[in-house]
Amino acid sequence: MAKQPIHFLLINQSDVKRNKDILNFRYPMLEEIQEMYQKIADYLQVAVNTLPEEEFEFNIESFAKKYDFNITKTFHTLQFLENEDLIKLLDNSFGSSKIRMAINNADLYKFQIANSYFDNFIRIILRKFPGIFNNNISIKEKKLSNELNISEVKLINILQKLEQKGIISYIPKHGGTHLVYLQNRLDSKRLNISKERLQEAKEYSNKKLEEIIAYAYNRDECRSILLLKYFGENSKERCQVCDYCVKENRKTLKQKDFEEISKSIIKLLDENELNIEEIIDSLKEIKKDKIENVIQYLFDKDKISKHGNKYSRI
Ligand SMILES: [Zn+2]
Repeated sequence: MAKQPIHFLLINQSDVKRNKDILNFRYPMLEEIQEMYQKIADYLQVAVNTLPEEEFEFNIESFAKKYDFNITKTFHTLQFLENEDLIKLLDNSFGSSKIRMAINNADLYKFQIANSYFDNFIRIILRKFPGIFNNNISIKEKKLSNELNISEVKLINILQKLEQKGIISYIPKHGGTHLVYLQNRLDSKRLNISKERLQEAKEYSNKKLEEIIAYAYNRDECRSILLLKYFGENSKERCQVCDYCVKENRKTLKQKDFEEISKSIIKLLDENELNIEEIIDSLKEIKKDKIENVIQYLFDKDKISKHGNKYSRI
């Protein structure tokens, strides 16, 4: 049964621990950043004070596994190194392959005459991609092979052969993540990262987290007021529906009153499914907020249930 509205923020010790762990991963310590920066260079074999031009294939999972780094921490540390403009990760998994004619029209014509095997293929390609003499054309092998009515393997084979013969340039897409250095690979001990700034960022987030935890554990104030306070607003108006408000409001209802109203509501719901307005209409002699309180109480205690906006007896 779906309980209605979520004014109750439930939290337990393992949530707290998990959130603190995430925070630790998100804000690696300077030593951890230095170590990972060093290991990246080891992994890719990049010497100190060089700036490789290469886009290295970089599988994050294999890297983390090799050096026994936690994968979440690895992601966050890499992100940190990117934010510092030391490295950049390129995700090419959605890229496409590129082809371009490597010779001019006249030479191509000679080639076609001498190599009838490729003639048909080249004609189709020329018709399909008029710009192929001047531009790299993005292709998807699978799609193109369907259009040419040949297998993908055969298409790739033709493209590779034409590449070997110097007729086209064919750049297959690089799958996966690549890593490039944006600056000279530094001695990891000389990374220009402020320990204080790292610490400050972490402390700020930690403070925010503590506030949320305090909010979740707080039982002495209306949740809505607390939440607004967390966002920097001051409000004195209680929400009337959170666990604190329900408890407070119940205190103000006399026990005898409370039982009588409960009985009336349950009697009504024994006969019909009703929404809250209908219940209030049926009990005109009782004040609206009292009815709401009792309904909330009965609902919390599973004495009544709710489907859509209709309450009924269980
Ligand atoms: Zn409240």
